[in-house]
Amino acid sequence: MQYEAIVGLEIHVELNCLTKMFCDCPNRPGDEPNRNTCPVCLWLPGALPRFSREALEKAALACLALNCEIQKRSAFDQKVYYYPDLPKGYQLSQAHHPLARGGWLDIADEKGAPKRLRIRHIHMEEDVAKLIHELEGRTPVSLVDFNRAGAPLIEIVTEPDVRSPHEAMEFIRNLRTQIRYVGSSECSMETGTMRVDANISIREQGSSAMNTKVEVKNMNSIRHLGDAIAYEIERQKASLASGEAIVLHTRLWDPEKGVTLPMRGKFEGPCVPDPSVPEIVVTGEWIARMRALLPEMPALKAARFQRDYDLPRELASSLAGDRELSDYFEAVSRESVPPRTAAHWILTQYLPALKERQLSIAASPVTPGRFADVLRRLEADEINAASAREVLARLFDTDESPDAVIERGGFRQVSDAASLESLVEQVLGAHPTAMGDYRSGQAKALGFLIGQVMQASSGKANPKRVREILLSKLA
Ligand SMILES: [Zn+2]
Repeated sequence: MQYEAIVGLEIHVELNCLTKMFCDCPNRPGDEPNRNTCPVCLWLPGALPRFSREALEKAALACLALNCEIQKRSAFDQKVYYYPDLPKGYQLSQAHHPLARGGWLDIADEKGAPKRLRIRHIHMEEDVAKLIHELEGRTPVSLVDFNRAGAPLIEIVTEPDVRSPHEAMEFIRNLRTQIRYVGSSECSMETGTMRVDANISIREQGSSAMNTKVEVKNMNSIRHLGDAIAYEIERQKASLASGEAIVLHTRLWDPEKGVTLPMRGKFEGPCVPDPSVPEIVVTGEWIARMRALLPEMPALKAARFQRDYDLPRELASSLAGDRELSDYFEAVSRESVPPRTAAHWILTQYLPALKERQLSIAASPVTPGRFADVLRRLEADEINAASAREVLARLFDTDESPDAVIERGGFRQVSDAASLESLVEQVLGAHPTAMGDYRSGQAKALGFLIGQVMQASSGKANPKRVREILLSKLA
């Protein structure tokens, strides 16, 4: 039997607000345990929550970045839940009246065809405390760290439109780009600012049945998300093949073993309207103001880069996919560097150099001005490409100007005819066999000879001129 997978995603995104969602405690879950607490987020009896405007604004920007419609009225409910990481016994969440509905993101499917994946709704909720299980001597203990309690979250719930691990990974990559662009969250699965759960079921190809789904959690990278979905699809196929029914439950992804394992049954408690936080009412004008705060988003920016800078589509999308990177590219291009040269050098040299040194663009000593300086000298044939790469590498470790680095390192390119001709004569004299090979029709001997001349010049000869001179001598 041919099966297809039906996957829906639930994505928790931690908003990078300064304070928690219902109190003024700092929103810094990584601080020393229980540093950032107060009666509200310790959930002491009688404490009243006060909803944060910053959380609403960051949530709204994320909703707009995901093409959702912000609801003029939304409200918090008490989601009943008994577990030590939430001692008040319920979580403030928007179960019945979410902040936004009806969004979408476009991705490319396996064959590269565009596909639109729908978002059902986005709601706001408070995070729970963190449980730490350890041994005190020989006694196992569970400790509670309330720094994360009450941290502002949004949960993005998709329609079950995903059909493969590839589509799930593409959707999450795109979602991360969009939310990073508006500055609401870093969306890192590795550090836990984004957590993705997948609801997975399978059905006979061509059927429209919605079968029992299994929830899979605990993936801490986009790669693991894909692996977990792929594993779970195969596991369900094998169950059906052996005549077992699929039952509703939650499974944990085990990255070491590469399998999903069953965990405690899902507790779905009742959900009742919360009387302590007033309904959230926003006007059309407010939504328009939020929309006006959106930056130029990646797809539009990529189209503009293609159009205005005449960049190939792939280069344009790579640059536009990261806001800081695209700003850097535009800053370099403004310094009289041809945009294609700038794009190429940023993606193939600058980015890998940053990665290697674990630097952010903001912290990099190679400012757009310094980078442009090197590229302008390359364009003017003052240095060759090999030297430009070396000068660029050195700029990461010095405050000196590119000019000074070029002078000190002796990188200035040798282009004058007399010096180059004498180098070429030397090389031809030393390699009569290669010269003979070339003349008898072996074109690749030319590459060898150019390489020899470059070496003889310690890499400083202008390779274009060397080639011209060699060709005329060999003819
Ligand atoms: Zn607090």
